[in-house]
Amino acid sequence: MPQRYDVLIVGAGLAGATFAWYARQSGLRVLVLEVTGRLGGLAASERRLGIDVHLWGPHIFHASDPDVIRLARSTSDFVPTRHSPVALYQGLTYSLPPNLWTMRQLWGVATPEEAKARWESERIPPPAGVDHFESRGRWQLGTTIYETIFRHYSEKQWGRPCTELPGSLLERTGIRFSYDNRYFRDVFEGVPADGYSAWVGRLLAGCDVRLNCDFFQDPAGFAAAAPLRLYTGPIDRFFDYRHGRLGWRSLEFRHEVHEGSRNVQGTAVINHCDASTPLTRSTEPAHFDPEGVRKRQEAAGLNCSILMHETPVAAGADRMPCYPELDAANRARAELYRSAAAARPGWLFAGRLAEYRYLNMDQVILGSLELAKRHLGPLPTTSTTGDLS
Ligand SMILES: Cc1cc2nc3c(=O)[nH]c(=O)nc-3n(C[C@H](O)[C@H](O)[C@H](O)COP(=O)(O)OP(=O)(O)OC[C@H]3O[C@@H](n4cnc5c(N)ncnc54)[C@H](O)[C@@H]3O)c2cc1C
Repeated sequence: MPQRYDVLIVGAGLAGATFAWYARQSGLRVLVLEVTGRLGGLAASERRLGIDVHLWGPHIFHASDPDVIRLARSTSDFVPTRHSPVALYQGLTYSLPPNLWTMRQLWGVATPEEAKARWESERIPPPAGVDHFESRGRWQLGTTIYETIFRHYSEKQWGRPCTELPGSLLERTGIRFSYDNRYFRDVFEGVPADGYSAWVGRLLAGCDVRLNCDFFQDPAGFAAAAPLRLYTGPIDRFFDYRHGRLGWRSLEFRHEVHEGSRNVQGTAVINHCDASTPLTRSTEPAHFDPEGVRKRQEAAGLNCSILMHETPVAAGADRMPCYPELDAANRARAELYRSAAAARPGWLFAGRLAEYRYLNMDQVILGSLELAKRHLGPLPTTSTTGDLS
């Protein structure tokens, strides 16, 4: 392929689309390759029956970085959300993340002091030299909260007993002695008003985008199309698995249409926390934008909802890699690939698959913005978003 572009981007998820947006704002010619038939990667959504269905599980955009928020708001309208999932355990429901409601439901305690005293009495110090998910959970959360909300959910999520999972998975998990049940504490939280794939489409405005196009069909030919290239696909695939395959956990979804109601389960997300079902979450996406769904459905003479039931499974060749398996062997392998990537001239690497990290959308966007700033320079003042600091 002749060198007709300034930048080649492999992958039309948020990492690739953010870099592409920045390159276009800088006046560069951009070619984007996407192996699937749709935009948005893991965040992709599709409007069905007036409802934006997030195809790979519920996606709530939340951010505090001013540049990320400015970019998001200048390229999409957002419906404000306030995510607070519900835990279902042995037929009873509990407020998440664990807070004073949860402790009142579990123990009947009424005040923060009573809750603290009960929690303290349930904490079990980890045995010397032991730091797995279970030992940390019993210490950090206390036995009841660990058993009710975290234990079985995590074992289903990762397909392993909690004694074989790293304690570090609980690093960002805490309990609150207040009735604050907001899952995210960022200053901005919402879902794109017309879905993630439409948002990514706007980020890619002005780029040449080729869907159903696998970079590995002709790596040398595509690489020749531009002097600067960004790869956002799986890093082990890029290097022909020379250090072995990186481990991932995947998800399977079963979708159900329910006629006659737009409110079937009463909330957007229910976490299935006991061992009686392999499901981890049931999502009713209509709850992310109830007014929008109502208006669209009434205009089309519809009254229905969609439930998405989510089951974790081992990743295979034909399954979407969702969560990196962060055991010691995979971490070491990922380091080898990172070193290989750093030594590869003419190529940049960004996003969750290339970095082999679990990243939220705001982190992915920020990572691509910073990478673009470093390699493409500051945005011209004519940029539609104005100055990204
Ligand atoms: C179940 C689940 C729920 C989540 N919920 C949230 C949430 O609520 N909030 C939040 O902030 N984050 C959430 N995330 C994280 C979010 O999905 C990611 O941060 C984000 O989508 C990653 O974007 P990316 O561009 O790095 O990767 P991806 O979206 O995976 O994009 C990579 C793209 O590259 C393409 N590609 C790969 N190989 C090739 C090739 N050879 N040729 C061409 N194209 C290729 C892929 O098809 C894909 O489109 C969630 C993640 C999971 C697993």
